[in-house]
Amino acid sequence: MTSVGNGSPDSTRFDALLRNLLAFGLVEHDRSATSHAWRLSDHAQSRLDHLDVPQPVVGELLYFGHRCSTCGEHSPTRLRGGAYICERCTALATGASTL
Ligand SMILES: [Zn+2]
Repeated sequence: MTSVGNGSPDSTRFDALLRNLLAFGLVEHDRSATSHAWRLSDHAQSRLDHLDVPQPVVGELLYFGHRCSTCGEHSPTRLRGGAYICERCTALATGASTL
């Protein structure tokens, strides 16, 4: 996260964000703490848990008129890095790096 100095445009946006957190009740004082602590509300935390999962690629165009640039198969492809790649080759490329 970038540092947020007083009076900078970042600071102004950050303050606006924090005001929104307050206005929407997404943060609250931690009453169990003896210090002046804030924490996310239970609702905000549950929504963050919901949002912090890999989302399937939605809305990415599927091309039916191109051969896969990797395997040459004539199958549905997606444009990745300027090349048309089929789902199988995409899965092989991404799966190989995570397994
Ligand atoms: Zn392929």
